[in-house]
Amino acid sequence: MLLKLKDSQLLKTQAYINGEWVNAQSAQTFPVKNPATGLHIDDVADLGAEETRQAIEAADKAMVSWKAKTAKERSVILKKWFDLMVEAKEDLGLLMTIEQGKPLKEAVGEVMYGASFIEWFAEEGRRAYGDVIPTHAADKRIVTVKQPIGVVAAITPWNFPVAMITRKAAPALAAGCTIVIKPSEETPFCALAMAELAHRAGVPAGVLNVVTGTNAAAIGGELTSSPIVRKLSFTGSTPVGKLLMKQCADTVKKTSMELGGNAPFIVFDDADIDAAVEGAIASKYRNAGQTCVCANRLLVQAGVHDEFSEKLAKRVEQMQIGNGTTPGVEVGPLINKAAIDKVDTLVKASVEQGAKILTGGERHAHGELFYTPTILSNVTQEMPVFTQEIFGPVAPIVRFETEEEAIEIANNTPFGLAAYFYSETMSRVWRVSEGLEYGMVAVNDGILSTEVAPFGGVKESGTGREGSKYGLDEYLEIKYMLMGGI
Ligand code: ADP
Repeated sequence: MLLKLKDSQLLKTQAYINGEWVNAQSAQTFPVKNPATGLHIDDVADLGAEETRQAIEAADKAMVSWKAKTAKERSVILKKWFDLMVEAKEDLGLLMTIEQGKPLKEAVGEVMYGASFIEWFAEEGRRAYGDVIPTHAADKRIVTVKQPIGVVAAITPWNFPVAMITRKAAPALAAGCTIVIKPSEETPFCALAMAELAHRAGVPAGVLNVVTGTNAAAIGGELTSSPIVRKLSFTGSTPVGKLLMKQCADTVKKTSMELGGNAPFIVFDDADIDAAVEGAIASKYRNAGQTCVCANRLLVQAGVHDEFSEKLAKRVEQMQIGNGTTPGVEVGPLINKAAIDKVDTLVKASVEQGAKILTGGERHAHGELFYTPTILSNVTQEMPVFTQEIFGPVAPIVRFETEEEAIEIANNTPFGLAAYFYSETMSRVWRVSEGLEYGMVAVNDGILSTEVAPFGGVKESGTGREGSKYGLDEYLEIKYMLMGGI
């Protein structure tokens, strides 16, 4: 397929190991398609366990000199990488829309968001302070230093093909670690383009490696069983996260897990309804509903239930659906057939159980992977749209009466990633924020991701935090040194 990139060298089809572009030993490739059109984009090297082992060995060797650099030396290279990504934001955005489907404006937004982690950790890496601890004995002194944990493995999903990589690679590299990245087989092009930019920025051979392939179990098996890899950072589904945690147990690796969510979006009687409608649009329909922090359940208090539902439906019906490269499009395709079939099944099963379709409720005529933005009302806690992560442009509305009831419904899930609520009452804002069993709570806003704040979940939504001053510690170990005989 002809791609109109300003810099044609950003379209890479080989994997990147030890500073070199490589094919699979078997010479096998896999095709990648544009979800909006079904058209073939290109074929990408299909690597397996053996090449993964080579990447791990390259990362291990490269770590010797990478960790010996000063934090400032690493920071200079990372800042260059950040600059190159910002310069290439339109090309990267286009690559993303073509392989992932999100509207171009959103894609360019993700490139900037993704790049912001590189800038942030280029700076944070210089502040990995240790402590001098007041001693317990007159002839001894105690200090701590922070050291890079070792070779890092990152396994990333397709819904944020740039940001999910930079959120892991930037703190790892800033801390002095080296990394082997396995991007999703659905979206390898953004990962490879970023590797090319890292190469140009002067990231030394072996420090950052990208292993592309369709045999996720083989690549993941190698990454998790290798004693050289000391840390796994994973973003993806909860079942795969649980499996990887088990696999990491044998070599006692540190893990960070960003898994599924089931975000409640609560609208109280005292909310600014127009603001809540806009927040719900941003939170629910961004990326066609395919983010782990997307509002999954809209809980609306009885007094504003009808007004909110009507205003939201009006706004949703105006949304433009189509190919993400078309200007003005707000909702693109879902990633693949399994994704749209799942959404369709969840909606149909819930409607059978009594949910009412306010708008949408069906596939969209634009193409095979398009689903019409949907709102369901009369939703109960037993319905599959309530209990499962929808990952599509479907908003189920649940009516509630009291604040206590809202918190109880919101917490009625094994997940605990993001929660949102709208209220104008200060005391309620505190009570509800504290009562929600979630790692992140947004009050009167529908978007909460930023590189300066800690992203992460509780319960089965995961462990660890990405971004912010806390994100660096995920890639550092504390060493305690006792100085005796003083
Ligand atoms: P999603 O629903 O976002 O595709 P997955 O958890 O299936 O979630 O995928 C996230 C990442 O995990 C992808 O890179 C995928 O290839 C990878 N993956 C899937 N299964 C495994 C596995 N058994 N071992 C290692 N990685 C896996």
